[in-house]
This record gives sequence, structure tokens and C-alpha cells, in this order.
Amino acid sequence: MTEPQKTITSTDAVHAGDARTKAFDAVSTPIVQTATYTFEDTAEVIRLTEGTHARDDREEYGRYGNPTCRAVEVRMAALEATEDALLFSSGMAAVTTAILALVKAGQHVVLFRDCYRQTREFVTKTLTKFGVAHTLLEPGDLDGLEAALRPETKLVISESPTNPYLNCLDLPRMAAICKARRGVRTLIDATFATPVNCRPAMLGVDLVVHSATKYIAGHNDVLAGVVCGPSGLVSLVRDLRDVLGAVCDPHAAFLVGRGIKTLALRVERQNATAQRVAEYLETHARVERVYYPGLASHPSHAIATAQMKGFGGVVSFVVKGGLDAARRVCDRAKLARIAPSLGGVESLIEPPAVMSYYEMTSEQRAAVGIHDGLVRLAVGIEETEDVRADLEQALAF
Ligand code: PLP
Repeated sequence: MTEPQKTITSTDAVHAGDARTKAFDAVSTPIVQTATYTFEDTAEVIRLTEGTHARDDREEYGRYGNPTCRAVEVRMAALEATEDALLFSSGMAAVTTAILALVKAGQHVVLFRDCYRQTREFVTKTLTKFGVAHTLLEPGDLDGLEAALRPETKLVISESPTNPYLNCLDLPRMAAICKARRGVRTLIDATFATPVNCRPAMLGVDLVVHSATKYIAGHNDVLAGVVCGPSGLVSLVRDLRDVLGAVCDPHAAFLVGRGIKTLALRVERQNATAQRVAEYLETHARVERVYYPGLASHPSHAIATAQMKGFGGVVSFVVKGGLDAARRVCDRAKLARIAPSLGGVESLIEPPAVMSYYEMTSEQRAAVGIHDGLVRLAVGIEETEDVRADLEQALAF
């Protein structure tokens, strides 16, 4: 088993990649609220176009770049230990732009069945319309991955941990399998991990994607996404972002950048609370099963222990009594509020059968692995004991 990798500290979260001197000597990165940038004369336009401009931070137009966004990109690259990073208007904008930039008609994509639902739909429905084939694999099936790779396979996509069962993929093995085949790139959506718990690029993954809406920004108040990776690949993604236009607004970028400074503090608390809550739930008579990679009972525990420093802030559990019981727990929770999303300072709770899979029958949900009695709790940064006590009273019916 490999040693848990080096992940980021709170010092990194505050300082990594940050410019020592900022505009107007401000401590924090200013919000540069502009849609376009002026030029002294046409000669300056030509210098920028020809790449001979004296300043490398010179911007031309808001869709092509913004200093507030760029500062966040540089910080995210430093935190994920990649050469470059790109900010987007949402996590899905990051995921879809990155995938579209890397594949073309006639090529093939592999993804794991427990990917975020919209990512799966993008690959299985939208990409199909543009002539890109795909293979769906069962969660964590790396033998299946070896068999699924074809000469025209271009991209392998997964998350780790996944939603809602927190399966963790053996990232070094996945990366090694793909690197052994010419031209196969790997993309990991590491939203649930954060660079505090795992840095996939250090384990050999090519592109690391986040819904920055979640832990990275961390306050349930902004939508954003980020793609991190080597300069060559990121520049392909940037070219397409310039065309598709799903850029991050400077105000949103400021909020993401501010959130990042407390990322390690928040995630360390969330790791500790989720572990405590998971252990508590495992002993509860009303709970049938708990899914948390920090528990020895979780199928991914060994992989997670090898490649993660902490196991994240999401705990999923099945309540005895099916959908009615799951709804009662969510309805009775006082501290945790009912809402989709995760990774913010406020604890959020949801029954996936109602929140994301309501249009399906119970049998259809079971077929895609969503148990009717499932509850997903995304812990915030409240006191650990308060979150645990809230669940205790929610389960007392
Ligand atoms: N990836 C994962 C793992 C997610 O959980 C989500 C959102 O829930 C997304 C991507 C999409 O991110 P956004 O909502 O910021 O577009």
C-alpha cells in the first residue's frame, strides 16, 4: 500500500500561488469589475496579439481573462500541484468544456456509472449526438477499464469519492492503466475530495476538476468550477472556454478566492465531524447501513486510506423504513437544512430518492443503486457534537 500522499495545509490554502504584491498594495485580491480593457494605442494591441507585450498579465476582453479570476486560477493550480488551472461559471461548465475540448467524433470515452448524474447524461446523451461513443463501467471496476480501452479511446472520466456512496477509485492504478495506452487521458472530478484530502495530479491523473460551488468556495453562496492540469491540456480547454463563454464572473471569483483561504480549516473540521457522525450512525438501531470511506466497513476503506488524508464531509446512510423514514429524518433535522449541494459551512441533508431521483419508481431507483431509505448528510463546520446531536433527535421517532 502506498503512503498517504502529501496534501495541502492551512498555510498553503492561505498563501499558495498568491502574488506577494497586489494592485494598490491591497492584502486581498481586488475585484476587477470590467468587461473589457483599454489600450494606449493600436501598437499596443499589436504587441499583445503578437505576444510581445511587456506585461504577461495584460488582458484584452472579459471573456478571455480577468485578473481576479486569474489569481484564483493560479492559486488552484498551486493547490492541486498542476501547471495551470481555469475557472468557470459552474462545475458543470468546467466538466463539459474540458470533455468537449479533449474529444471529437469517432473517439471513445470511458466513465464509471456512479459519476455525477449530469456528467453521465452529458456523456451518454450529448456526446453521443456528436459521434463520441462511450462505455459505462461499474463503480471502481479497473479490470473492466483495461478491457474497455480501445484504440480510439481518448478519455477516462471518474470521480473519487463518488456521490452518494463515496466509492473511491484506486487513482494510481487507474492512471497507470491509461498511461500504458498511447493518447488516453484521465479526468477526475475531485469535488468530494478537495486538495486537503487528495491531490489526484500527484497520483498521475491528467486533469482534475472541481465543482468549486462546494468545498472550494465553501459557503453555499456562489457557483463556480475549475479545471486543473498540465499547461498543454489546460490551454486546449481555455481555447474552447473562450468560444463557449462559460467564464466565472469577477465577483464570484472573489468569493471563491476568499473561500479557498479557509479551505483546510473547514475541511479538517468537516472530516472530523463526518467521521464522528458516521461512527455514531453505525451504532444506531434505526440505521441499516452507513457509507463513509473512513469506516472500516466501507468497501473503499483501504483505497481511501492509501490515497487520502481525510475522508471528506459527506456521510450517506440507509434508514430502516424506506422512503417514509428517510423523509422523516430529513424533515426532523433542525440544524441540517434540506437542500441539494455539499461542502459549505452549513450542514445540508437530503433524501436522494426525493431530491434527485423523484421522477423514478422505487424499482428504477433500485436499479441505479439509489435505495429509498437513503439519506445524504453533508456536514458543515458547526460543532461536531451539535451535528451529531441533531441527527440523534432527528432519528428519535
Ligand atoms: N461534480 C460533482 C461531483 C457535483 O457534486 C456537482 C454538483 O453537485 C457538479 C460536478 C456540478 O457542479 P455545479 O453545480 O457547480 O455545476
